[in-house]
Amino acid sequence: MLRLTELKLPLDHAPEALREAVLARLGIPGSDLLDLHVFRRGYDARRKSAIHLIYTVDLTLRDEAALLRRFAADPHVNPSPDMRYRFVGHAPSGFARRPVVIGAGPCGLLAGLLLAQMGFRPIILERGKVVRERTKDTWGLWRRGVLHPESNVQFGEGGAGTFSDGKLYSQIKDPQHHGRKVLEEFVRAGAPEEILTVSKPHIGTFRLVTMVESMRETIESLGGEYRFGSRVTDLLIDTAPDGTRAMRGVMLADGGVIEADHVVLAVGHSARDTFDLLARRGVYIEAKPFSIGFRIEHPQGMIDRCRFGDFAGNRTLGAADYKLVHHCGNGRSVYSFCMCPGGTVVAATSEPGRVVTNGMSQYSRAERNANAAIVVGITPDDYPGGPLAGIDLQRRLEEAAFHAGGGDYRAPAQTVGDFLAGRPSTGLGEVIPSYKPGVTPTDLAAFMPDYVTAAIREALPAFDRQIRGYARPDAVMTGVETRTSSPVRVKRGADGHSLNTRGLFPAGEGAGYAGGILSAGVDGIKTAEAVARSLLGVEAAP
Ligand code: FAD
Repeated sequence: MLRLTELKLPLDHAPEALREAVLARLGIPGSDLLDLHVFRRGYDARRKSAIHLIYTVDLTLRDEAALLRRFAADPHVNPSPDMRYRFVGHAPSGFARRPVVIGAGPCGLLAGLLLAQMGFRPIILERGKVVRERTKDTWGLWRRGVLHPESNVQFGEGGAGTFSDGKLYSQIKDPQHHGRKVLEEFVRAGAPEEILTVSKPHIGTFRLVTMVESMRETIESLGGEYRFGSRVTDLLIDTAPDGTRAMRGVMLADGGVIEADHVVLAVGHSARDTFDLLARRGVYIEAKPFSIGFRIEHPQGMIDRCRFGDFAGNRTLGAADYKLVHHCGNGRSVYSFCMCPGGTVVAATSEPGRVVTNGMSQYSRAERNANAAIVVGITPDDYPGGPLAGIDLQRRLEEAAFHAGGGDYRAPAQTVGDFLAGRPSTGLGEVIPSYKPGVTPTDLAAFMPDYVTAAIREALPAFDRQIRGYARPDAVMTGVETRTSSPVRVKRGADGHSLNTRGLFPAGEGAGYAGGILSAGVDGIKTAEAVARSLLGVEAAP
């Protein structure tokens, strides 16, 4: 099979035009093209008057060798890579050492699924509830202002991204095509097939819920086991006379003990009590950079018009997204993050007395507002004091936001006009904030570090030069956006084991090895492979 990349066609081309374009590009008759399969479809909207679709296609041809010779100097014509997934091994029959996976987010799910597919019958421990019950609890905060600390946007089956936009792309390097395996498993679990081809796939919240259930059924059918309401509160670690440390098992909040010498730690970035536990038990952790800021909302129609011009509203293009970055005079970088076209801002705290924002959308992305985090990168130099100091900073900001919002889980909000003018907001304009259970107009700068406020004040007008209206006076910012990534890294070696605790496999976003659903899933696969290799006693792949 051959892969042809960068094939440009006009938006809204007729279906047969793709085949014709391939034949014309390669200069071959139709009889030579035996099969055509779209591998990826993106778009180029740099010129709003002439938006194009860009295809990558896999082709089966009558004489591929001859064509490859003819196009040897053409970087866009190559053999299709072999992206099939190959397991690193399988458990021998009767294999009794069951690995434990802590956390049923995308990382834990993929780790659990792969371990189950390899015959290791994993035990998956999840502090939260099954996804349907968790959905009710999460809506409880949004509709009634009632937070369930163990069942919310961050905790429960499906992990942090379950109530999200379901964006499924990532910029990670993925030479082994693990991302493809993640997407294929998602399709098997009910995601639309198009996620395999469109360049920026998303699935929205409702489908994620169904997929997570379907993946659970698969894991259980392969001998895996889920235990919900099972918060890990301690790690049982044996220390040999030479100081070598090795996992023996985990303890749960109800006092139960599960013996296991291979434990995947996929707890996400909000498991602050678990990070405390790691520090207490001497597992190697260190502070890592993350970002803080606010969530901003604009009318989606404004973003569509700016990005797509007369093509705004085109069904193939869908709701427009954006990605912005500005390098500030004070040395900080401000960037947009987790942009949700046609979505809503959501209350994303897992701890009482704290307010955190994030964003989500449905598959249709049909809500009135576009939202995105506007955040500033910060480093451990900004929060000295050890591995857990970033969490302390997050907590302080989230508490301040809770109080500024009125102390009942409403979020503090400010219009961009007031924020730029340095005065508190007392009302709002045309842009109606979507955050539930509501917002309180106030002064966001009052509780954010000055360098963050200054950087965002500089960045917004710069963003307005790229997206006209971005700094419109009635655009709304809500806060705080603190859970952009983990403030902690739980370091592991090349073999996947924790640097100082054999048998503990730190993984996913919480350990600092992923950011987003797809990359967390990819890390889950890599970690399952590391666990399997270790259990089978085989060398790591070169
Ligand atoms: P998590 O998903 O955080 O899962 C960790 C799991 O571990 C949780 O279920 C938790 O309950 C469990 N756990 C924690 N501690 C313990 C313990 N001690 N014992 C037992 N269980 C424990 N990413 C995207 O790519 N696209 C998006 O559109 C997107 N939108 C988002 C929207 C929202 C509202 C949020 C909150 C996040 C969004 N993200 C998005 C980020 C994405 O969800 C995360 O990057 C991803 O979920 C990380 O996966 P993970 O498995 O590493 O951790």
